[in-house]
Amino acid sequence: MNMVDIENLSFSYNSVPVLRNISFGVAKNCFMSILGPNGSGKSTLINIISGVLKKYEGRISIGDADLSSLASKEAAKLVAVVPQSTDPGFNFTVREMVAMGRYPYINRFDSLRAADEKAVDEVMDKTRLHDFVNRRYNELSGGEKQRVIIAQALVQDSPLILLDEPTSHLDINFQIELMDLFKRLNTEDGKTIVGIFHDINLAIQYSDRVLFLKDGGVFDFGEVEEVVTEENIERVFSSEVYVAKNPFTGKLYINPTFNTQPPRSGNIKDIRIHVIAGGGAASPLLSMLYSHGYKLSCGVVNNLDTDQDTAQRLGIPFVSEAPFSPVSLWAQNKNLEFIRGSDYVILAPLEFGHGNFSNLVSARQALEMGKEVVVIDEEDISARDHTGGKAKELYHKVIGLGANVVKSKEEVLNILGDKR
Ligand code: ADP
Ligand code: MG
Repeated sequence: MNMVDIENLSFSYNSVPVLRNISFGVAKNCFMSILGPNGSGKSTLINIISGVLKKYEGRISIGDADLSSLASKEAAKLVAVVPQSTDPGFNFTVREMVAMGRYPYINRFDSLRAADEKAVDEVMDKTRLHDFVNRRYNELSGGEKQRVIIAQALVQDSPLILLDEPTSHLDINFQIELMDLFKRLNTEDGKTIVGIFHDINLAIQYSDRVLFLKDGGVFDFGEVEEVVTEENIERVFSSEVYVAKNPFTGKLYINPTFNTQPPRSGNIKDIRIHVIAGGGAASPLLSMLYSHGYKLSCGVVNNLDTDQDTAQRLGIPFVSEAPFSPVSLWAQNKNLEFIRGSDYVILAPLEFGHGNFSNLVSARQALEMGKEVVVIDEEDISARDHTGGKAKELYHKVIGLGANVVKSKEEVLNILGDKR
């Protein structure tokens, strides 16, 4: 039995139709994201499932209960909602705020019983709120307030938790902290999570399934790997992206193809290129390849370096090292992971010092892995060698091992078979 089953759901606000003929099911223990542009009806859908909006057409089952036949306290024992923010209208203490979530279990004028107090304590532990018990909600930071709101939803003790952009106003570190918490609730406590997330990439890192909503209808629904495609994102959000795999997590992520020199629609190529970069030597190449629609990665660059900046602006994944520090073994290995996943490796005309000598080693390793390696030999290596000859020696070895040598970045396109 699914946790939620929705059949032919339609909904209008004052006779303006907003949701049309929506059907889908959410298995128990699933982590599902609802993705869609502003105004597509995501919040409306969540508000219907949570029982806030009642006059819908169609059928909604929560477990084996028909939602329309549940009294609101009964519904609240099955479904809890974490909204984007809450204004309680009164400066409650943190504990008071959390305890309010027990309302489905308490008669109107009764106070909390021992079991309720215990539930509140447990949830405050889980959300690390114990130090805040007597603090006032209105005086907390955004991230702390959001933990209180989550705790309030958790004390409802419902098997289904709905999230409506619960992390949108927070810094990325808080967002990740809260997403990790939702994931633990999902995997350790068996909660079913259905969430709307502002950040698609964050959503797909944590989700099993995705429902795309567009103009109030289901556009697509399925496993992340099946439905998070360039075509779907482009059609749902009207924005061009490319989808790649995050080598750190093995999960998909999307990259906007920014407006600078975006590849033309339909011109995204399924060819992965890793550019060995640094110090700005690769920036023109990265921009050129990017505008031709190749799937790029680069490294190892140093933080604050021009190539890292370019990669960041273009949404190209990169491996980086602390500013002015030698490349660590960790970064070298991450760089090799990118290389392993690529079809071509291009060595930009870098300056080589002792700190980034390992980038040259990576080029040799790419050849040893059987990768197509292209060396851009724009400027004499002797002038770029700051290692007393060591780099020059390995550079020639790389060429001797069978790398393609070109004199300009434009020639790279010929090798890739791209007619400009
Ligand atoms: P999303 O959460 O995807 O941004 P919403 O569900 O909030 O979308 O809104 C869907 C549509 O319903 C929008 O066109 C919005 O203007 C409209 N809408 C939302 N809330 C109300 C309301 N309370 N009364 C009338 N129209 C509303
Ligand atoms: Mg919304």
